[in-house]
Amino acid sequence: MPSYEFRCRECATTFEVQRPMSAASDPARCPVGHDDTVKLLSTVALARGGGAAPAGAAAAPPAGGGCCGGGCCG
Ligand SMILES: [Zn+2]
Repeated sequence: MPSYEFRCRECATTFEVQRPMSAASDPARCPVGHDDTVKLLSTVALARGGGAAPAGAAAAPPAGGGCCGGGCCG
């Protein structure tokens, strides 16, 4: 069952709710009991954390051949 993250606008608490996708947009009540909550992105998307290297970053070019490997340096 997917989990959804909500944030309470009254006490700024962020909390997680597990519910079926069919109920994803239902209102949630914060642990303290406030009803004024907003749904955040799913925690699945947030699980990777921040600040990681961007996807598709180019790898370092291979250190190949070069002059001193081929005997042209004397
Ligand atoms: Zn609250």
